Amino acid sequence: MHQEVFVNIPFVDLKTQYQALKKNIDDRIHKVLDHGAYINGPEVVEFEKKLSEFVGCPYALTCASGTDALMIPMMALGIGPGDEVITTAFSFIATAETIHLVGATPVYVDINPVTFNIDPKEIEKRITSKTKAIVPVSLFGQIADIDAINALAKKHGLNVIEDSAQSFGATYKGKKSGNLSLLSGTSFFPAKPLGAYGDGGAIFTSDEKLFTLMKEIREHGSEKRYYHTRLGLNGRLDTLQCAILLAKLDRYPWEFQQRQKVAQRYDQGFSGLKKAGFATPQIAAGHQSAWAQYTLRIQKRSEFQKQLQEFGIPTSVHYPMIMPEQPWYKAQLKSPSSDWSHARLASETVVSLPMSPDLAASTQDFIIEKVIKVVHQL
Ligand SMILES: *Cc1c(COP(=O)(O)O)cnc(C)c1O
Repeated sequence: MHQEVFVNIPFVDLKTQYQALKKNIDDRIHKVLDHGAYINGPEVVEFEKKLSEFVGCPYALTCASGTDALMIPMMALGIGPGDEVITTAFSFIATAETIHLVGATPVYVDINPVTFNIDPKEIEKRITSKTKAIVPVSLFGQIADIDAINALAKKHGLNVIEDSAQSFGATYKGKKSGNLSLLSGTSFFPAKPLGAYGDGGAIFTSDEKLFTLMKEIREHGSEKRYYHTRLGLNGRLDTLQCAILLAKLDRYPWEFQQRQKVAQRYDQGFSGLKKAGFATPQIAAGHQSAWAQYTLRIQKRSEFQKQLQEFGIPTSVHYPMIMPEQPWYKAQLKSPSSDWSHARLASETVVSLPMSPDLAASTQDFIIEKVIKVVHQL
């Protein structure tokens, strides 16, 4: 029955990527081991320069994780107790977690059900005199509706911090994610579009003062060694991770194009599949997604996942529960009556398929064939 099973389809294929980059990565790692500047070494400065060039943003600051890449900008803006920060209801928990970590209150807004991103029309209804910032998330690799969000921020005197953890390299009207708002934080968690071999992140800004401030915050709030003028943290990215990321960034433009091709192959493969409740991802006009995830909508999701798993095809749900309904977060809610129905429905119906720049066409065709088969049987 199951003689066609590909036993080892990875959800994200990092092994093939390593094999392609092995010499460059190994050489760069050994160089760091030899020179010994494990913290704030030359690769950190080199990688920050390359990041700033790639994104087209004047200032790039590496940090220890995507979580720090959201928290440090909020600390730099002085966001804290009594302040409100508007964000989406549908994201990875770090988006809301960092708002709580600085002592502020997240105000969750529903999504546009087509793009899965925060709905600007809903944002304006939730702006109060306490609102300090908007944190839109560029979910699954597609930049949030940034023109509308920036316009609202300007009108109400708010700051925008784009959560670009999933959208490194994505573009909107030709400009890259990270370069479309005052501040942006991305992640180099291994499974993200640009991944390190451990945790990592980066912050982008066009504001020199904020950049300097965030650099101090990243170094325990010090403007010079052992002189602490503000509250900070240990938020640095290791030299070794920057060395690995330098090697990976060289290949990234090619990988980004491959991600477009893989997404197109899925789109074409599913173009004839008509079934109630089944939908492929939609990319809005002017956008190019980084395709962190290729996310379908499907009814009877757990059955769908179970049957694909029998063919050796892994799937993943990002995310099975909206943030304001996570136990700890729900307990902090001040206005639990908000309407997050689109976000809730997404959390119940989304499922992501394997997505990697190195996904072989033959493997992908196998996945497409089995998805069609399973969907018809549901
Ligand atoms: C991964 C992710 C983060 C956090 O990044 P880490 O590097 O894991 O700390 C934040 N927001 C979103 C949307 C993410 O996907």
